[in-house]
This record gives sequence, C-alpha cells and structure tokens, in this order.
Amino acid sequence: MTDGGSAIVSAEHVVTPDGVLEPGWLEVADGRIAAVHPGRSQAPAAHRARWALPGFIDMHVHGGGGASFTEGGPDDARRAAAFHRAHGTTRIVASLVTAPLAELERRSAMLAELAEAGVIDGIHLEGPFLSAARCGAQNPRYLTLPDVAAFTRLQAASRGWLRMITIAPELPGALEVIRAAAAAGVIAAAGHTDASAETTAEAIAAGVSHATHLFNGMRPIRHRSPGPVGALLDHPVTCEVIADGSHLDDLIVRLAARAAGPGNLVLITDVMAAAGMSDGDYRLGELDVTVSAGVARLAEPEGGGLGSIAGSTATMELVVRRAITAVGLPVADVAAAASTTPARRLGLDGVTGSLRAGLAADIALLDEDFRLQAVIARGERHQPAA
Ligand SMILES: [Zn+2]
Repeated sequence: MTDGGSAIVSAEHVVTPDGVLEPGWLEVADGRIAAVHPGRSQAPAAHRARWALPGFIDMHVHGGGGASFTEGGPDDARRAAAFHRAHGTTRIVASLVTAPLAELERRSAMLAELAEAGVIDGIHLEGPFLSAARCGAQNPRYLTLPDVAAFTRLQAASRGWLRMITIAPELPGALEVIRAAAAAGVIAAAGHTDASAETTAEAIAAGVSHATHLFNGMRPIRHRSPGPVGALLDHPVTCEVIADGSHLDDLIVRLAARAAGPGNLVLITDVMAAAGMSDGDYRLGELDVTVSAGVARLAEPEGGGLGSIAGSTATMELVVRRAITAVGLPVADVAAAASTTPARRLGLDGVTGSLRAGLAADIALLDEDFRLQAVIARGERHQPAA
C-alpha cells in the first residue's frame, strides 16, 4: 500500500470489537491500524469498500493453490500461504496430518522456520493420537496411542510454534497428553474421536479447550447418546466448523453457532492442496485424493463407491460468505468466528484479529455480496484471487 506512509481505508460498514461503524474509516500507517473512526473521512481514501472486516485467521488448513504443508518443501508452504492470503486469510496455522513420528518431527522443524520467517503463525498437529474408527482421511497405518514422550519430541521439533494438537480423548494415555499440552500452552483439541459424552467431559476437565471440526470425524450426536458433539457444545470450549455447505448442512452450522455462542465459534477451511484447484487427483499426506465437483474424497475406497471426505476445497472467503448469506449469522459474529476468536485462541489478540488501533493492519474488504475486493495484510494491499 505505502512505504511507511499512511493511508485511509473507508467502508460503509466497519466491523470493530465495539460494534459496526456505519460508515467508518481507518488510518493505516507503518503496517498498523493507527486509528478507527466513525463517519466519513475528510481526506480521500486509498481503499473503499462496502464492508471492512478483520483479516481472516485460519487455524486449521493443510495447504492450498496446489501446494501443501504436508508434502513438499518451504516454497510449497509459502505458495499455500500466499494462495490463502489472496482469499482474505492474513494469518494461517499449518496443519499436519498423521504420519510417522520422525516425519512429523521433520515437517514441524521446517514449519517452525517458516513461522520464524512470518509466513505462518503456528503449527497444528492433527494426529497421530486419533481414533482408527473416526480417522477420516488420516492414514490409519500411522495412528499411535497418545504418549507424552512422543508429544514432547514433537513439541521440541516445533521450537515453540506448536499451537494445537488434535487428540481422541478415549484413547489410553490421552488425558496425560492433554494435561501436558495444556500445561505447555498448546491447545488440546478433541477430534477424530469415538468418545462418549462422559469421556469427552473428563477430557475437557483435563484441559481440552477446543473441538476439531465439530461433527466431522466424530461419533455423531444422538438424542440418547450425545457423544463428543454434545459434550463439546455443553462446555465453554471453542468449536471449529467447516461451513462450506458440503461438510455440514447450513442448519447444523446455525445450531452449532447458537449452542457454542458467538465467542466460541471458529470458522476453518480444513483445506488441502486442492483449494482453488480444478477437479483432479491430489495427495494428502500419503493418501490419494480425488476432487470432484469441488469436494475432495479419498480415492479408490475399499468396496468402491465414494471415499471419505478428505478435507474441503474451500477458502476462508467462501466460508465467511456462506456463514453470512446461507447460514444467516450476523456479520459481526462471523468476523469474530473468522478472526477475533481464533486470534484469541492463538494468543495473537494483542497483534491481530480485530479492527482496533494498535493492531496489525490485517483487513479484508468485501463488496455488498460479501465477495472479497481486496486484502490488506500487515498494511500491504493484495489483490484477491479471481
Ligand atoms: Zn484437517
């Protein structure tokens, strides 16, 4: 946008933590939001839009734009991050899937370097301590029982950048790893789990504070056996939802939003390399995935037919628009779920996640149909992807 200078961003609706300014404007200087004002600025605006929201923060994403965090090298990871930035995601947590421990250590070390370089904002380990019964697109070969020593090795390899680990709470040893993660400041998330509601509640008491893609990869909620979904929604934990229209019915997203409350819903993409790619064949970890009509499924499932959904091909731009227009959530609640709440969970709330003076100028500018018009990341403008 500018080289250390200042610029004005104006919008008909500016979503701030204290309410929506209609209209409002922001002063951006040196990569930060210098001030937020109601009304119209006297000086001309460098950027105008219908809506200004905080830049999106995706805390569960495996790749994008044909590149992956689970395969390939640092340049692939950079490409994936750039792809998502072009869709409004100004901060990203790279998610690894179940793999041999040594491989997870190697990839965590590589991602830690990228976090130090500011390309990503942390690492999420989705595995290897997951339920074989609910493993979805995770490779069952490398699932292992929860083990504090293994967790400690993975944490050391990530050099302080491990932000979250997804665990199935019913596995033997899970509570110990959950306690170790929570004590280390790593979000312990319940996911890919076949646990009962009781076991899930025990895990929450031990330190689980987050749900990995609520409903997907979990024992379903039933009226006489509420399972992990019931327990997670019954406690004040943050809950991820994939609001892409294929992983969850829009009505279910609406119910989850109401049950979790506006401060506890988190919109994610859970997207793999195929985000933004046309139909075809891709890799997720060691598994082959086929994208057809925008939905990624495991290729060649046993017995034929359709394979397990293997992660979405969505972007944050898409799930945000869908949460507003199809699910019908208030825009301010969607901004919280797409940015403010993940920032808080990642310990970034003093850095980003709100349109507030002093924070990084991470801003998503949307038109009247909630389509992305421009992205400002750390004060620099990026054109949206077509
Ligand atoms: Zn995932």
